[in-house]
Amino acid sequence: MKNKSICRIFMVIFSSLGFLAGCGGNPEIPVEEQGFYMGTVVTVKAYGPKAQRAADEAMKRIRDLQDKMTIQAPDGEIQRLNASAGNGAYVPLSSDSIHVLKTALKYARLSRGSFDVTIGPLVQAWGISTQNPQVPSLTEIERIKKMINYQDLEINEKENTARLKNTGQMVDLGGIAKGYAGDEVVKIFKAYGIESAFVNLGGNVVALGGKPDGSSWNVGIQDPGAQDGGCTGVLKIKDRAVVTSGDYERYFEKDGLRYHHILDPKTGYPSKSGLSSVTIVTEKSMDADALSTAAFVLGLAEGLELVQSLEGVEAIFITGDRQIHITSGLRDSFTLADPGGTYQCHEKT
Ligand code: ADP
Ligand code: MG
Repeated sequence: MKNKSICRIFMVIFSSLGFLAGCGGNPEIPVEEQGFYMGTVVTVKAYGPKAQRAADEAMKRIRDLQDKMTIQAPDGEIQRLNASAGNGAYVPLSSDSIHVLKTALKYARLSRGSFDVTIGPLVQAWGISTQNPQVPSLTEIERIKKMINYQDLEINEKENTARLKNTGQMVDLGGIAKGYAGDEVVKIFKAYGIESAFVNLGGNVVALGGKPDGSSWNVGIQDPGAQDGGCTGVLKIKDRAVVTSGDYERYFEKDGLRYHHILDPKTGYPSKSGLSSVTIVTEKSMDADALSTAAFVLGLAEGLELVQSLEGVEAIFITGDRQIHITSGLRDSFTLADPGGTYQCHEKT
């Protein structure tokens, strides 16, 4: 994992400074907790009398979801689903996992397989987020590609069970689980009567309300080309999820080439769609998470078409040649950090 959270940590600090400056000495201090879950730095920040209890419960809930959905440890239920692949049996799962799997299938269909959680064997073969990443051989990639097919993930909703049709198939929820966790944290905060909170799961950001003074939260959109985690622009949000998928987030280099972690199920290689990042802005962070990965793989034209076909979904596409394309709903909320700089911003209507 490289540089992943610098920009995001910056924006959390940015947000809290904004709050302190904006309220003229209001004594209310947020409760802030941090941990390392789901392979990334998780920060929750909440305001209000019950914020401490809510934040504690939120962290517990994230750990619980990690335990269910991780495939890095042997005991998780998605791991059990994978271990039973091809044996015909349906595996009992929690309603959390069923809900995430169902949503994953929805976005697999909408993206015509560009987002596909049965990508597991390919993720494993590349090992991009591990200590030993490697470029698999062409034969290996061809063999593995045949195993990726979301239609082989069968869910029995009545029974809360699921199965994978063929031996060797594996679900990997790395492109969607953090999004679901973000939504669950917001649910907890709401149940505690909290009206102002900010959650950041390694760049999966969810804001509940605005800042306590009523103004918007500022979310920095990372410059994909910056080594220092600098931002191309700032997005103002209230009650929104902001999730970015970028080729600079996790990668390794071999023989002068860079291989990143967003894989194209159709080629078997890291996606080369001409994009450096896609940021999705919408209500639910699970939708934003799946869509940011899907749109990244689809590329600018098809990704934009998908985003624009969906109600309440906005996006920022940053191309490898430093063009920023925003959907019209972000016209008043996105500001370029350096308007005279090398990035050019275009609005898509
Ligand atoms: P991040 O995990 O850095 O937030 P993403 O949400 O884009 O980034 O998810 C990338 C992760 O999703 C990868 O690490 C891998 O586990 C998984 N993944 C990679 N390619 C795909 C794909 N085409 N469809 C679904 N999941 C993917
Ligand atoms: Mg994603």
